[in-house]
Amino acid sequence: MTVQELDKAIRRVPDFPKPGICFYDITSILMNPEAFRYCVDQLAAITKDLNAQVIGAIEARGFLFATPVAQALGLPVLLLRKKGKLPGKTLSKRYALEYGEDEIFVHQEDVTPGSRVVLLDDLIATGGTLKAGGAMLQEAGAMVVGALGVIGLPFLGYEKFLDPVPVRTIITYE
Ligand code: AMP
Repeated sequence: MTVQELDKAIRRVPDFPKPGICFYDITSILMNPEAFRYCVDQLAAITKDLNAQVIGAIEARGFLFATPVAQALGLPVLLLRKKGKLPGKTLSKRYALEYGEDEIFVHQEDVTPGSRVVLLDDLIATGGTLKAGGAMLQEAGAMVVGALGVIGLPFLGYEKFLDPVPVRTIITYE
């Protein structure tokens, strides 16, 4: 599998969820075991490179990639979830969306001060979700050593926005 072949395995849905947006749909990667394996291997190599000790997985599609990567490397998976999903005591962070606001949560007792965490999502657009998730973990004393995505849309400026946290993606689109 190559990046060119991965590109062919990603379904594009124009004008979804609204006019002018090209939606990069990872369900077509999940339907293609070779492409999925390639993504997991690449993300595992990056995670190892960054010496991460924990994978912080972003709800929902980030979960799909984070769990096999964590199992391949023998690392724990820390779920960063939407409101009302985590039953234990939580930390949270609000962040701005294009229209309105959202909030991300994590189980407080599962964040270990000083631990090296990489955040993982399927796609990095503005980087807003990862920035909020990273800030929440940093405020609890964790070290965010990388922001990982299968797909990146660098024209939206996420590198500068997430700086100094390094961003690594397998494939990018302009
Ligand atoms: P952001 O916080 O702007 O980086 O948005 C990232 C989240 O929105 C990710 O969880 C993606 O799954 C989703 N997302 C944003 N833009 C797209 C897109 N063009 N195609 C697919 N998913 C997207």
